[in-house]
Amino acid sequence: MSTSTVTRTATRGTWTEGVDHEAIIIGAGVCGIYSLFRLREMEMDVIVVEAGSDAGGTWYWNRYPGCRFDSESFSYSYSFSNELLADWDWTERFSPQPETYRYLQHVVDRFDLRQHMAFNSPVTDAIYDEDANRWEVTTGDGVVRTCRFLIPAVGLLSVPTRPTYPGMDTFAGPSFHTFDWPRDGIDLTGQRVAVIGTGATAVQLIAAIAADVGELKVFQRRPNWCAPLHNSPITPEEMATIKQSYDDIFERCAQTPGGFIHGPVATRYADTTAEERRAFWEDLYGQPGFAIWLANYREVLMDPVANAEFSAFIADKIRERVHDPETAEKLIPTDHGFGVQRVPMETNYFEAYNHDHVHLVDISESPISEITPTGIRVGDDLHDVDVVIYATGFDAITGAFDHMNIVGRDGQRLRDVWVDDPRTYLGVQVSGFPNMLLPEGPQGAAPTTNFPRIIETGVDFVRELLAHMREAGAVTVECTADAEQQWQDEVANLYQMLLLRQARSWFTGYNSNLEGRDRMRHMMYNGGAPRFRQRLEAVAAAGYEGFELS
Ligand code: NAP
Repeated sequence: MSTSTVTRTATRGTWTEGVDHEAIIIGAGVCGIYSLFRLREMEMDVIVVEAGSDAGGTWYWNRYPGCRFDSESFSYSYSFSNELLADWDWTERFSPQPETYRYLQHVVDRFDLRQHMAFNSPVTDAIYDEDANRWEVTTGDGVVRTCRFLIPAVGLLSVPTRPTYPGMDTFAGPSFHTFDWPRDGIDLTGQRVAVIGTGATAVQLIAAIAADVGELKVFQRRPNWCAPLHNSPITPEEMATIKQSYDDIFERCAQTPGGFIHGPVATRYADTTAEERRAFWEDLYGQPGFAIWLANYREVLMDPVANAEFSAFIADKIRERVHDPETAEKLIPTDHGFGVQRVPMETNYFEAYNHDHVHLVDISESPISEITPTGIRVGDDLHDVDVVIYATGFDAITGAFDHMNIVGRDGQRLRDVWVDDPRTYLGVQVSGFPNMLLPEGPQGAAPTTNFPRIIETGVDFVRELLAHMREAGAVTVECTADAEQQWQDEVANLYQMLLLRQARSWFTGYNSNLEGRDRMRHMMYNGGAPRFRQRLEAVAAAGYEGFELS
């Protein structure tokens, strides 16, 4: 394969694009948009290829009712442009999906980025040509492009997974994953609806549709620990104050482990009395957003005793809010403690079960055995429904990479290299895959961090690395296997410090709908965003230690 064989041009709309580029970014979501902005600023010849028909990533795809931020809207803003900060008004503390989607459209239009984006172009193959030192990227429309630098910005949760129940295709009514919510909408009023799954997506969806549907059956395998979001409108006056405070907001986010405005209290759990803890937790329960998870005592996420006490506190809240005691008990997790899986934030989720027409179907012991044309069979019971909604999660973090045929040096396929466990250096590179740079790759800090905050760190690191290469006249960068191994050890050690290692969730790489995913994988860096940033800065200051430039 050689670039000289590629002579075609790709025509889109009125613009004809050359097919050889300095960089190709895969994905036009929050990360891809910012990557494009930064690389274009460097006057790179760069293009974004995107599977969807427009930019927006997660906020383009996920359109289910109730979909909204769990980050404070103002902490989710890109921070790179004062003008952008000044001209965008958030209207809710936790923005709903349509507003966030409009925000990203606004960013794309404001900086005239759309002209560098090719839509409806899912990448099927990305193959490294060692002789030419270029990547050859093929998209679903048959166009082949080449580039020196391949920059996957594919998102953490962009490949939905459905169960594999017998009979799924026979269901007569509408059935879909939340990620594939019908783009023209669907009227659920008065319908008998089944929701399978009780993760963050289902928790938002169930609360949003419960009052309007005719009957709602929620099929729950394991409950999650959920806490109130406490959303509220942002008035124009509040927005004006927020605009004046953006420097402080971003400074605060830069200091907290999760990149949110919420950080752990300094007080040690062991230095408090039971009464003090109770009062503190009551206060946290009334606070908006992730305060309850991230502004808690550190020990809640590290010490089983502290975690058990706090979990018991939340369990009592569930018992207070759900009228039927049997249903309340079923909604209380018993296999893991609070906060070791990502905490779904809810608005009236528990109250949804107080409607007479909303039923919790416990499938923990007797699983769904088949989907029939009219409903869902569990044991001897057939639950007749009109619509089946799969809120069954994602092939998280590595899924979008695995879906492309990414082939590096010596014909190594990335999905084979990562089959047991992903491995990267700093989440940014994989040895054997030269010039493939990941601003938000596996084993980076993105999964546990307020996303825009951490992708600005990742993208800026990649940009600086590319600028450094330009200055040094280098055309190839590849991390060393040694540096990669050291990063594996660091990532693995950090898992040992946190209770989250015990949970079976996407944080630890589990997915019951995929073969071979019934065991722990080291998916992310758990040292917190500030430490991650310091590690990147130290690597850069040491002349990009661990990377070989040639
Ligand atoms: P998820 O957390 O992985 O939850 C999937 C749910 O489906 C779980 O309850 C799971 O049960 C269930 N499930 C999966 N396969 C099943 C099967 N074959 N049979 C029965 N049940 C099955 O996925 P998600 O709810 O889509 O959330 C993923 C992540 O997206 C969140 O953690 C969060 O990071 C992000 N998110 C964020 C927001 C926001 O507020 N900004 C909203 C939604 C999602 P088990 O637990 O037993 O596996």
